Amino acid sequence: MPSFLPIHAPHCVVGVIGGGQLGRMIALAARRLGVRTVIWTGGLEAPAVECADEVIDLPFDDPDALQDFCSRVTVSTVEFENIPCHTLEKVARCTGLFPSPHAICICQNREREKNFLRENNIPHTWFAVISNALDLAAAMKELNGPGVLKTADFGYDGKGQLKLEGDEDPEKIWAAFDASRAVLEAWVPFEKELSVMAARGADGVTVTYDPSENRHRHHILDVSIVPARISPAVALEAAAIARRVADALDYRGILGVEFFLKTDGTLLVNEMAPRPHNSGHHTLDACATSQFEQQLRAVIGLPLGSTRLLSPVVMLNLLGDMWPEEMTPPDWLPLFEDGEASLHLYGKRHARGRRKMGHVNFLGTTVENALARAEAMKSLWLE
Ligand code: AMP
Repeated sequence: MPSFLPIHAPHCVVGVIGGGQLGRMIALAARRLGVRTVIWTGGLEAPAVECADEVIDLPFDDPDALQDFCSRVTVSTVEFENIPCHTLEKVARCTGLFPSPHAICICQNREREKNFLRENNIPHTWFAVISNALDLAAAMKELNGPGVLKTADFGYDGKGQLKLEGDEDPEKIWAAFDASRAVLEAWVPFEKELSVMAARGADGVTVTYDPSENRHRHHILDVSIVPARISPAVALEAAAIARRVADALDYRGILGVEFFLKTDGTLLVNEMAPRPHNSGHHTLDACATSQFEQQLRAVIGLPLGSTRLLSPVVMLNLLGDMWPEEMTPPDWLPLFEDGEASLHLYGKRHARGRRKMGHVNFLGTTVENALARAEAMKSLWLE
């Protein structure tokens, strides 16, 4: 039995907590389905606002905003995981929130996330929880090699991370590290980074998209290549692990699971994103159902759509450093001349170094062809 009765469009109003580009793309998908959206921005700059039906532009800890949000929506979701857990629980009680606060609160904190992986026997890299210099000294001794120290809270895109070779002074490292809790992870000499987008519906049925092969620039996703250049066995294993994660979280909605693939073919889960994910943006142009529509289907209680890949694709992220001036975009003409490249801009007026301004999906007859065109376009804009 579904845990939440299906609510059918067009009578449904979906509340989205967070107003970033992911919220914007959820709102755009909602418009196509005739579903209304209320975006709660948290008082932050919000590219989603211009695509939403209604906006609540107040902080997440404002009690009036919470009441207002609950009174306007039928069901809700998040586009950003760093929302206080107590706020998420209140929203869940008043409107229904998918994924659940339990799942979001695990994924928003590395300590809870790693413990969840360990408790559920999901393959992950060695780690230790650190709350002082003594913990760090003991963990470094046990690890006896290179690692990464990561803050437990609010870490993403490589923020709050420090690579350690293993011979540093733990006292000095901890004194300079700006966190009260952290995890030390063993360094993984990976061959590739992969991710799988999984969607689990109201009935507990899970579907997965083909794995993306992800390459980073300045610790931020640069390109996603789909299908990933991996063996069918690795692709099946990655999908099976993503399914296990979704089941163990009793998840409802779209979930991103990021992996390291080692040279011996072993997969380790690095982290999970309880929302649409940057490495799933290719689904907008290259899959039967986009990750954003899939999220709405799962949240509303509709049947999930097909995840079938319709074409090889390479997604290129557009970061602020590709803008020649803060308010001057790159020359898009070569992109439009390409003919099989779709531009998605997030409506941000000011470009800054590593800010995500948009992305481009390059369709191709092969991933090599799509990748060559993506790389050529990137070099043009980074000149
Ligand atoms: P994260 O914020 O955990 O996704 O880390 C950002 C990036 O840092 C990853 O995509 C990897 O490229 C790298 N990284 C993080 N943790 C490790 C690790 N334990 N071993 C090797 N590389 C890592």
